[in-house]
Amino acid sequence: MKVGILTIGNELTSGKTQDTNSSYIARELQVQGWPVVVMMSVGDDHAAIKGALDHILALADALIVTGGLGPTADDITTAAIGRAFGRKLYTDEVCLKHIQEIFKEFRLHWTENNAKQALFPEGAETIFNPVGTAWGFSLRVDGKVIAVIPGVPAEVKIMLPEGVIPLFRKAFPEASRHVATRIFKVFGISEAGTDKLLSDIDLEALGVEIGFYPDFPEIHVQLKARTATEEEARERLARAETEVMARLKDNVFGYDEQTLEGVVAELLTERGLTLAVAESLTGGLITDRLTDIPGSSKFFERGCVTYSNRSKTDLLAVPEDILKEHGAVSEQTAVRMAEGVRRQAGTNLGLSTTGIAGPDGGTDEKPVGTVYVALSDGKETYCRHYDTFRWDRRRIKVLSAQAALLMVKRYLKDEIRHEP
Ligand code: ATP
Ligand code: MG
Repeated sequence: MKVGILTIGNELTSGKTQDTNSSYIARELQVQGWPVVVMMSVGDDHAAIKGALDHILALADALIVTGGLGPTADDITTAAIGRAFGRKLYTDEVCLKHIQEIFKEFRLHWTENNAKQALFPEGAETIFNPVGTAWGFSLRVDGKVIAVIPGVPAEVKIMLPEGVIPLFRKAFPEASRHVATRIFKVFGISEAGTDKLLSDIDLEALGVEIGFYPDFPEIHVQLKARTATEEEARERLARAETEVMARLKDNVFGYDEQTLEGVVAELLTERGLTLAVAESLTGGLITDRLTDIPGSSKFFERGCVTYSNRSKTDLLAVPEDILKEHGAVSEQTAVRMAEGVRRQAGTNLGLSTTGIAGPDGGTDEKPVGTVYVALSDGKETYCRHYDTFRWDRRRIKVLSAQAALLMVKRYLKDEIRHEP
């Protein structure tokens, strides 16, 4: 089953809003195994909408339209689709009542143009909107199915999986197979390195497909099984997962929706440990990520951005002669920073970063991208030196924050001793 996507709105064709709906929908359809053969954007214009519908329906069996379902005069999608296929508009009473109830509930002032959102082309079936007044609809035209939903991305994210995909499954049963996916989140090896490690797995025999999706600084490896039953899809995935994990091992820090900071937060909470962070080149990135986790105050005590030498001495008690002798970017300083922040904060763990983000400040001995990450638990202090971060300033910072969080994860999972 081939699918097309049409996004409608002057805000798209004027460049004001970036069309993120298309890429989101395309990704979700990809998971279903339905190839997207065309994506188009047009303004709120009858002729442009008709032209796009004709064009896309010549290429695809099904079409998803977003945008232009609002109550204002510039939202013309329903009228344009009705006109394009010679269908008059009718009022759906259930939808009208729903909109009126929302107005009552939120004490909004009702004006006549709000009733416009309950209009649909004849022959259409409505698609319920659980989060707004703009209901969608589906229409069958010459054996093809058109599904129309609002443009607001948050509404698309609900109405696509809950409204449109089940509708397409029903309309095209032969194209509906069960899909199970598993994403492995990899950090520490390159995309090519990941590919090489996995190259000897016989994916065809296992009945799964593989995809590599770099999401800087991580690599996301997706396995997908598509079969007649849900159970079989899950079984295939489980078998393939064993093979993948035997090769990638602890280079995988998480799965699916998990984030590295989320994994670290979970491990710290589980073990009842607390953490303090002293950041030099990462400038607060680690603190930002950890405090994104709800309930982070349980394990996160403080984050200090100690950028200058003076702040390292004042706040972390890094001895001046260490800084003088070895420099701020050195193993000795990183170690003293981690130990200092742990001591000052009275936490179980102290984490630190120091390095040269560039573009200036590099030397032959310490080129741009030289980074030290240290973690102290009061008994031992682990330090790791990176000299392979050959990126721009922003990405060196992002990589360093990631490397630091990974060090905490490895420490908590007892993997740290295996580090080179
Ligand atoms: P509403 O009733 O909320 O107005 P609507 O269907 O009329 O729904 P639009 O007016 O087209 O939706 O869009 C609402 C907002 O959603 C726009 O201001 C825009 O920011 C965003 N939006 C619309 N289309 C897209 C798109 N393709 N990608 C990303 N954002 C979009
Ligand atoms: Mg609108």
